Amino acid sequence: MDLVLEDAVFVTMAAGLAEGMLVRDGRIAAVGPAEQVRAAAAPGAQVARLGGATVVPGLIDAHCHVSDVGYLAAGADCSQPAAPGIPEIRARLRDAAARTPDGSWVTGSGYVEYKLRERRHPTRADLDAAVPDRPAVLYHTSLHACVLNTPALREAGFADGQPDPPGGAFGRDAQGRLNGVVYEGPMFALFEGNLRRDLSRMDAAQRARLVEMAGQYFAALGITAACDADLRRDSFSAFAAADERGVLSLRIYGLVVHDQVDWLVSSGLRGRHSGRLATEAVKIWADGGMSSRSAAIHGTYPVPPHGSGILFFGRDELTEMITDFDAQGFQVCIHAQGDRAIEAVLDAYAAVLAGPPGQPPRGNPLRHRIEHGGAMYPALIARAAELGIVIASQPGFLSTLGDGFAAAFPEQRDQLYPFGSWRRAGITVAGSSDAPVITADPLLGIRDAMLRRTGDGQVLGPGERLAAQDALALYTTQAALAARQETEIGSLEPGKHADFTVLSASPLDTGPEQISGIQVLATVVGGTPVYQSVSLLPTG
Ligand SMILES: [Zn+2]
Repeated sequence: MDLVLEDAVFVTMAAGLAEGMLVRDGRIAAVGPAEQVRAAAAPGAQVARLGGATVVPGLIDAHCHVSDVGYLAAGADCSQPAAPGIPEIRARLRDAAARTPDGSWVTGSGYVEYKLRERRHPTRADLDAAVPDRPAVLYHTSLHACVLNTPALREAGFADGQPDPPGGAFGRDAQGRLNGVVYEGPMFALFEGNLRRDLSRMDAAQRARLVEMAGQYFAALGITAACDADLRRDSFSAFAAADERGVLSLRIYGLVVHDQVDWLVSSGLRGRHSGRLATEAVKIWADGGMSSRSAAIHGTYPVPPHGSGILFFGRDELTEMITDFDAQGFQVCIHAQGDRAIEAVLDAYAAVLAGPPGQPPRGNPLRHRIEHGGAMYPALIARAAELGIVIASQPGFLSTLGDGFAAAFPEQRDQLYPFGSWRRAGITVAGSSDAPVITADPLLGIRDAMLRRTGDGQVLGPGERLAAQDALALYTTQAALAARQETEIGSLEPGKHADFTVLSASPLDTGPEQISGIQVLATVVGGTPVYQSVSLLPTG
């Protein structure tokens, strides 16, 4: 059945604005002047009038953690304002305990201590009062801290007299006893361990449900496709289970963790599994994070723990890994945040992409990427541009984590996440969220790319701000290129998947201050609505 969409502004991101669009068999059949679109439709086509809304290409999140989002969505929502204080968090954890299977930890997430009525982290005693007899964990929204109850501290092997572990810290009470709050390194290990254990215990239907819940979250934000930035065997099976059941509501492009590539190849699951699930990229971590001050930098941080960050692989190891994956035809995506890590990664890419002696460099046909690229200073930008490296980065970090960046990089604060310089250098730059680290809301990312304003109101690098059109491109055309799917998604053009997002206003002419007030009215994947806040489109 043909579906004609009209009475809307279509931001095609390919051929300017249009007045109408025709959807046929899950694809865009025509887009252009209203009369032309009507003329192209079969007799008896359905017509949906969109009440003056704005239609943009389905928004793409080029780097996030879809299964983590689904996993946390299955636990207690302890975010603010849903849970305004610690008594409400306790009640939500108690409810979650009743539905959490034996052997799994009771899980809550999303709190921000300074948004709580009490303006402090909950403690083990707070959690013990809700869940006294089995392990419970409450994750901070940043996923850089969490709170454990007493049974969880015991099961994790954390004891009162213990010193802080390397790369992390424990919160303590006035007597020096653990108060249940765990920061950074041990927190990441706990999250990973809990996720992997719980996924391994789920059957296919439960895994599919987890992906379905994540999909609902992304769909409500207007997202139609995402790169999952640490796909593993268990999360892949969850996506595959959802895909087989027809509940995978967004397209997944998997970045498979480097130590699981052998499994992927031997399982025969590599490649385009379906129109909604593809795994053709490999993820490597070169260093730590910016807000945990573990990104590998030249020099030392002026803030605790005053180190130079952590480099997980040196140039030679990286070169060896990239050579191997490149020869197998994989796109390589390397997490690199600090300038020392970015330098090592560019050295390695340069060695692999150099081509045989005497021959010109072979370009970057597989579109190898750098993930994040936070401290990519001008000389490194020039090298990345010359090599044709693609960048997937997170403008939304600026409003959520930017003040911490400014404290850790006082001299270079205006050069962090240099979206403007990247684009001026001709680099392909994809927008993304790194959710659940921050919200996956792409409108927030678009706003931050335009404003670059931190939570405290500092503007980091005003020269790095993007115009609205370029900010929207991060989440559409540029992200499609970064996921090597530009012939299928990323713009409203005939022949592409009918993936689009209906917004209450256009991000191109709403001022940046108003962008976060734009509402997602509908999200459509392959011609089928996966989210509607108002009934605009026929569902079947
Ligand atoms: Zn990530």
